[in-house]
Amino acid sequence: MEYPITQDAGLEARDDRLVTDSARTDRPTPDVDVVVVGAGIAGLYLAYRLSRAGHRLRVFEAGDDLGGTWYWNRYPGARVDVPSIDYMYSFDPNWQRDWQWSEKYATQPEILRYLNHIADKHDLRRHITFSTRVRQAGWDDGASLWRVRTDGGDDVSARFVVMATGCLSMPKQAEVDGLESFTGEVYFTSRWPHDPVDFTGKRVAVIGTGSSGVQSIPVIAEEAREVVVFQRTPTFSIPARNGQVSPERLALFAANEADYRSAARMSPGGIPMERSITPTFSVSEAERQQRYERAWGIGELFEAINVYADVLSNPAANHEFAEFFRNKIRAIVDDPQTASDLCPTDYPVATKRPCLDTNYYATYNLPHVRLVNVRKHPIRQITETGIDTAHEAFTFDAIVFATGFDAVTGAITAVDITGRDDAALKDKWADGPQTYLGLTTAGFPNLFLITGPGSPSVLSNMAVSIEQHVDWVLDCLGHLRAHGFAAIEPTATAEAGWTQHVNDCADITLFPAANSWYMGANVPGKPRVFLPYPAGVDFYRATCDEVVARDYLGFKLSGPEGSMCNDGLVRRLQPDVEMILIQMAAMNLPTLDSMPVDEARAFYAQMSTTRPPGPDVGEIVDGVLPGATGDLAYRLYRPPTPGPHAIVVFFHGGGWVVGDAVSDDPLCRDLCVRSDAIVISADYRHAPEHRFPAAVDDAMAAVRWVADNAEALGGMPGRLAVCGWSAGGNLAAVVSRLTRDAGGPHIVGQVLLTPPTDGDLTRASYVENADGYGLTTALAQWCYDHYIDPADRRDPRFAPLCAGDLSGLPPAIVVTAEFDPLRDEGKAYAAALDAASVPVEHVRARGHTHQSLTMVDVALSGAPVRARIANALRGFFLPTRTPETAA
Ligand SMILES: Cc1cc2nc3c(=O)[nH]c(=O)nc-3n(C[C@H](O)[C@H](O)[C@H](O)COP(=O)(O)OP(=O)(O)OC[C@H]3O[C@@H](n4cnc5c(N)ncnc54)[C@H](O)[C@@H]3O)c2cc1C
Repeated sequence: MEYPITQDAGLEARDDRLVTDSARTDRPTPDVDVVVVGAGIAGLYLAYRLSRAGHRLRVFEAGDDLGGTWYWNRYPGARVDVPSIDYMYSFDPNWQRDWQWSEKYATQPEILRYLNHIADKHDLRRHITFSTRVRQAGWDDGASLWRVRTDGGDDVSARFVVMATGCLSMPKQAEVDGLESFTGEVYFTSRWPHDPVDFTGKRVAVIGTGSSGVQSIPVIAEEAREVVVFQRTPTFSIPARNGQVSPERLALFAANEADYRSAARMSPGGIPMERSITPTFSVSEAERQQRYERAWGIGELFEAINVYADVLSNPAANHEFAEFFRNKIRAIVDDPQTASDLCPTDYPVATKRPCLDTNYYATYNLPHVRLVNVRKHPIRQITETGIDTAHEAFTFDAIVFATGFDAVTGAITAVDITGRDDAALKDKWADGPQTYLGLTTAGFPNLFLITGPGSPSVLSNMAVSIEQHVDWVLDCLGHLRAHGFAAIEPTATAEAGWTQHVNDCADITLFPAANSWYMGANVPGKPRVFLPYPAGVDFYRATCDEVVARDYLGFKLSGPEGSMCNDGLVRRLQPDVEMILIQMAAMNLPTLDSMPVDEARAFYAQMSTTRPPGPDVGEIVDGVLPGATGDLAYRLYRPPTPGPHAIVVFFHGGGWVVGDAVSDDPLCRDLCVRSDAIVISADYRHAPEHRFPAAVDDAMAAVRWVADNAEALGGMPGRLAVCGWSAGGNLAAVVSRLTRDAGGPHIVGQVLLTPPTDGDLTRASYVENADGYGLTTALAQWCYDHYIDPADRRDPRFAPLCAGDLSGLPPAIVVTAEFDPLRDEGKAYAAALDAASVPVEHVRARGHTHQSLTMVDVALSGAPVRARIANALRGFFLPTRTPETAA
């Protein structure tokens, strides 16, 4: 039985109002309520929260002691890369009474001491079984519980399983032949011995220059007689400038620790910091260099990446910042060849986690340290005495592997997890992980993943992300119990939506351009999928909270008394579009329809002064052309390539009331460059001074004039298309039909971007998207009322959808946006063209709004749609579509 969700007060129930399983169900009572796998930061916090909430639990840990990352990674130089006072639990507010961090960036031993101190202080060890690896976890649907098996022979049943197995806990296999033949010492940074390792007087090889390599190489070089570093991919690294804990930060804590922690939770990366909103090229070269220097000097990773808003999205911005790094490397490293080899050039900066170092680059100036670039000198094999490259044989006493991890998913899929119908998680994730919120996965009820794929995890300060996940899980368990549910599982719809959303977020960044472990690219055979959630800790937390507030949207909750499912998608807008809408809402701007027309026009013009200009074109020419009753302004955009070019006559948006020949400037530039065509943005008379059909008459006049003067304008006669956005899209459609009926000029194609085609306000899209997405239904109505009398609204010069015969119209591309009141009339027009056998491509822009596709360099997710438009234009202009051949 499905029963509807009710908004009862019990939805707020928390852990302290527990109802035990046995009181609620007649199902077998499991051995424990929760099995936790792993005793790192996550496992310890789970033990704390679960035990305090009265859950019976067992924690299994493969290591001989607690600490996870900080238990295993004992290599020389191992440290945190976020400040220690940010990388700690927040649940222990009086921590300063019995703990003090000795450095800005604590060392591994100090963090491990801290975790032991927390475990002892809160008596957490008693829950943990050490030296025990969980091998198998199978969901028993009949009994509604998990059966968990370990390599120690444990066979434990549990209502819930929480994988706190760590994102960076499954070391990657060494990809080199002959290791077993080496007679010297072999070390893996991720499995470093507990006894001190003495490299004094030894010849040491270090393979790998990721974070562990960068941290350990300078320290190893202090002892060793000779160090040879084998590097495949160089790393961007910033000096850590370690030292005392910053007094300013401590003062912030003293003032109000709760506020400080709360700011961290609502920050992009889990450390209190404002998200940069300044685009790189909006400031002068001198200012940019100054800010880069500050980023280099401050010694904080997240601050450095945050230097400008577009470092991770704009290739040119990224290139400039990367070049700044490369110049620093060249300035530090004496030998030009070594410096060149140390400069990363084949991936954008910050698309792999940059490192924080102490003397890393300078270490290569020491006479006993040498870099071998294995891209040029590949390692052939490890021998009895050392390493052979294609060009040289090296002798070593010790080899250190700093070769990284099968990140994020490796430790999860290493356990044989089976869900409903014995489906294996490993199989489900064969083409890449699918999760809902990075916390759960469909088909595997009551399984939680701490910092799983699809959550901010390794892109954040993980201490904060771990606490957020554990808190969410605990609240969820409290909710289930308080409402008599025994199981929770995401729906396939919600999971697919989230996976899509994570990909959408990644696709507007430069992350996918790198062969990084974020992309799974470091492990042979691993699917190339962006693993973490890149939109930020703040947005992510808000999403998780929203899911709960909307009655566990996208989850099915079930129990002996029935089930509940409020299915749906939590994030449907493109991520950048959503951010723009949030920013716009925060500005609380007046709406156009609340203003007199003159004010609305001035306001519209003012708003366009703050946007990025769009790409450079070859030439811009402003002029006037004869409209139906007088001169009209136009702006011509010429491509940078040699002409002559095809021509697009463009009509701007603005509801026939606002806007002009330059108001869609960035869009016109973008279309010009992408399509390699001249774009002529022609103005037309506006309402209410000049009501329908003045704009149509002017649009026709413009098309005729351009056709007549094509050659003089640098165009190719006969290669003429029309294009328009919004009201301009309407004009483009109308002109296409009028020129057909008038027998010319010949138009080879029409581009209709979110056009009104009959102004029927009863369509569903006007209701669904009435408010909240930029163009409101009220504003659309305001435009229609200014432009045209209700009695004329079925005139095909306003409503092309009402034209009796659409056959023989130019081929079209019609773009509709999902969250646009006008969506359904654009959709209807595309269908009508198709029915009339007009070649039409209908592009449904998922997650977009009426305006967002025109926001060049602002809503980056619109770029692929504009690329499709340009592609369509190029197709229209092919000789097969020109009048000569059409005839
Ligand atoms: C060298 C290094 C430096 C890092 N520095 C930072 C930093 O500065 N800032 C930051 O935010 N993050 C950093 N990280 C990421 C770090 O992993 C997390 O910050 C955090 O420690 C993860 O905690 P965890 O409890 O989720 O996982 P882990 O600490 O990885 O603990 C997981 C535990 O689960 C155990 N386990 C796994 N599988 C099983 C199984 N099947 N059965 C039983 N036990 C199992 C493992 O043995 C391990 O002990 C670093 C990682 C590394 C490797």
